[in-house]
Amino acid sequence: MDIVLYPDPILRRKADPLEQIDDEVRAKVAEMFELMHRQKGVGLAAPQGGWSKRVLVYHYPEDGIEDQVLINPTISNLQGQATGEEGCLSFPGIYAQIERADQLDLEAIDLEGRAVRFTARGFPAIILQHEYDHLEGVLFHTRMTIADRLRHKKKLAKLEEEYRRKVHA
Ligand SMILES: [Zn+2]
Repeated sequence: MDIVLYPDPILRRKADPLEQIDDEVRAKVAEMFELMHRQKGVGLAAPQGGWSKRVLVYHYPEDGIEDQVLINPTISNLQGQATGEEGCLSFPGIYAQIERADQLDLEAIDLEGRAVRFTARGFPAIILQHEYDHLEGVLFHTRMTIADRLRHKKKLAKLEEEYRRKVHA
């Protein structure tokens, strides 16, 4: 599994729910963890690995959150406001302040098929909103301020040009 870069159309697609957890899924999830750590990311959504399923992985050891996988997640009870600098593995070298909720409730299933439900606050809540957006085909540059999008215009255009070259190669 390799990181899929903007503007690959798979990143704009709404990912499909995962119907069942089998060996193939377990192998894909292991690849997602490997890719997230190799790229030194805090989170990764399956479409970023070219797999258009509603699966995300993340970790935040500062809060005691080790590698966690969330399948078919839903987010509810968004509360408060938090703005932090975000990057995205699919947008190398691009960082911007994004406005998010500070707290949310998340429900999902884990790799053993068990229901998971918890409340996330602060940075983990920001990671989860960013990764959940990927499952909806929403990319973080669309949440930037107009000023930040202008500031990153050249870098975005360069990624678009590299993608065009790769597709036509
Ligand atoms: Zn991202």
